[in-house]
Amino acid sequence: AQYETHDISKPRYVRVNTLKLGVESAVNEFRKQYTVVKDEFVPDLLILPPGTDLHDHPLVMNGSVFLQGKASSMVAVALNPQPGWEVLDACSAPGNKTVHLAALMKGKGRIMACELNKDRVKLLQNTIRLAGATSILKLCDVAHMQPLALTDVEVQHGDFLNINPEDPAYLKLRAILLDPSCSGSGTAAERLDYLLPSSMSNQSGDADTTRLTRLAAFQKKALEHALSFPSVQRIVYSTCSIHQIENEDVIKSVLPMALRNGFQLASPFPLWPRRAEHLLRMDPVEDKEGFFIALFVREEGERPILP
Ligand code: SAM
Repeated sequence: AQYETHDISKPRYVRVNTLKLGVESAVNEFRKQYTVVKDEFVPDLLILPPGTDLHDHPLVMNGSVFLQGKASSMVAVALNPQPGWEVLDACSAPGNKTVHLAALMKGKGRIMACELNKDRVKLLQNTIRLAGATSILKLCDVAHMQPLALTDVEVQHGDFLNINPEDPAYLKLRAILLDPSCSGSGTAAERLDYLLPSSMSNQSGDADTTRLTRLAAFQKKALEHALSFPSVQRIVYSTCSIHQIENEDVIKSVLPMALRNGFQLASPFPLWPRRAEHLLRMDPVEDKEGFFIALFVREEGERPILP
């Protein structure tokens, strides 16, 4: 279920699963065979030479590292969840970002992962098992001698849009990661689609537009839903699409509601060179992967402005 591409012109990104292995230990292990550089934006992401084949490497097989691209690895880091927080991954399978959240939260806190598709729930559960998240049980905070919450990920098979934001189960929710279904137009496989014979290509121009419009409508609805949870302070919206209709246009359309509810757009990775204020976009030319990240932040105590 891990991200795996065979584009040999692209660096091999490896995210260290710090629930199982330290970053330095992973660097030392890989340096026995390869040149290894740490990514400048994501502290647990390593860059190995293009074409490095790790699919049956022991550290991959045992879940100590994930073959996760840079785009995918930046999303959970942008959310910046803290140990002890309650966090919801709204559209979560196959779960690469879910287990990254668990690692960033150092095994302390509560993570809920929602997924609509039953078969993909199984992928999610496999990823969680591989990452070892379920084995982090009842860690004890020595300083306060308090038993801390489990980091077992609570997998929910259902529609994120059907979760009631006022449900007492979500009243302490601090952050939402929203990585909804998208066209995937930023990924190498999708961008090479035009090279296929038309019988194999998955859409004509018209179908493409209809599909994008439908996806954008869902993405907007899902983001509005995320913005309606009363205690949430951070929301990350991400896609692996290069289309404005799924990215900047979605943000623009929800902005009035976001502001009414006390949220501001913030800049994830302030040193990232950006075109539009706050919004983080990477085009395929820059790193052969196209993606988009937006971050909404609400200061503690900022109450939604009720109509
Ligand atoms: N964040 C995931 C990761 O990094 O591994 C990838 C998420 S993928 C882009 C989007 C997922 O959202 C799909 O698995 C899809 O089935 C799920 N999904 C779509 N609509 C949903 C909904 N209304 N509620 C919950 N999940 C949904």
